[in-house]
Amino acid sequence: MAHLVTLIPGDGIGPEVSDAARRVVEATGAEIEWIVEEAGAAVLEREGSPLPPRVLEQIRRTRVALKGPITTPVGSGFRSVNVELRHELDLFAAVRPSRSLPGVPTRHAGVDLVVIRENTEDLYQGIEFERGTPEAAALRAELHRLAGAELRDDAGITVKPISVTGARRIVRFAFAYVPANGRRTITLGHKANIMRFSDGLFLSIGQEEAASHPDVPFDEMQIDQLSMRLVRGPEIFDVLLLPNLYGDILSDLCAGLVGGLGLASGANLGWEYAVFEPVHGSAPDIAGKGLANPVAMILSAAMMLRHLGEHARADAVEAAVDAVLLEGKIRTADLGGSSKTDEVAAAVADRLVLGGVPRPERLQ
Ligand code: NAD
Repeated sequence: MAHLVTLIPGDGIGPEVSDAARRVVEATGAEIEWIVEEAGAAVLEREGSPLPPRVLEQIRRTRVALKGPITTPVGSGFRSVNVELRHELDLFAAVRPSRSLPGVPTRHAGVDLVVIRENTEDLYQGIEFERGTPEAAALRAELHRLAGAELRDDAGITVKPISVTGARRIVRFAFAYVPANGRRTITLGHKANIMRFSDGLFLSIGQEEAASHPDVPFDEMQIDQLSMRLVRGPEIFDVLLLPNLYGDILSDLCAGLVGGLGLASGANLGWEYAVFEPVHGSAPDIAGKGLANPVAMILSAAMMLRHLGEHARADAVEAAVDAVLLEGKIRTADLGGSSKTDEVAAAVADRLVLGGVPRPERLQ
């Protein structure tokens, strides 16, 4: 039976990299029925919402989605579709692998780590008070009453909640992820010495779970020190377990360690739904020119294939990406080449070695 997958092409370079990923997945012969749903800026203009209910309904029906990046205009009141999706579908875990890829010159070789980021709480929960509003004034007064805090009257305020429930499920997810995916250790990043009741709570839940998983080596590190250590010697790290904001920042840092955003794949997972998407955004500076590197999106699609139980096809896609990068003839401008997005997709599809998996007719 065909797998049902909602495909959200997204904005900017989204449609270009989505086409490339779809092409590669189809070349593996995986039986997928794609349900294409538009979301983002153009849909906002047409339908009044960047994430119409039908898109969410479709993902709830198919349970799995492959998504291109979607633009979030800064300070427009247009809440990020990405944040909204994660909240609506309770996609509490972002999983973002970064590994050194053959033929991609970087400062460090032998990087192979995974960021597991809590996706629903922290400063990204969306509890914000604009400076100068009556709500901000009321909150300032309440904070003064409760905590003796003296906030300036021109302060904007964003709230950072981290709950036992939210922390425990992501920590448990990480401890289950390690043995299930052949990983070794967990390093939890925090700033618990300053933010005792949010980061401190995240850390204490991590330590509690670690005590009941003696089989998984566990370490914790302050986020500033972790950032420095990652830049100096990322090879020693394996799984990084992080609250939302640090997870967002360090996933881009880790992408940079292995060659940039054009290569960094990701998944947003909950107990019921899974949305696969690259770490990068809609890259308006290069959109519509065929310049985008589709590898991040193709590797996100490989993660999706694995989630669907198509392990051999997922392995084949990753191996084909490695082969194309190692060969070095076909690569996009971000990697120093001059190939177009669709040329990379064609090269990866061409290099698929499917072993025991039935090949699609046109490749036989
Ligand atoms: P970005 O990731 O879009 O771009 C940062 C830089 O990396 C740009 O120079 C861009 O050209 C380059 N880049 C990104 N992906 C690339 C690729 N595949 N190939 C080659 N170069 C690539 O980040 P940004 O400019 O901060 O964000 C642009 C928009 O995307 C914003 O509206 C942001 O909110 C949104 N965004 C969406 C998501 C998502 O949908 N999950 C994630 C991040 C950012």
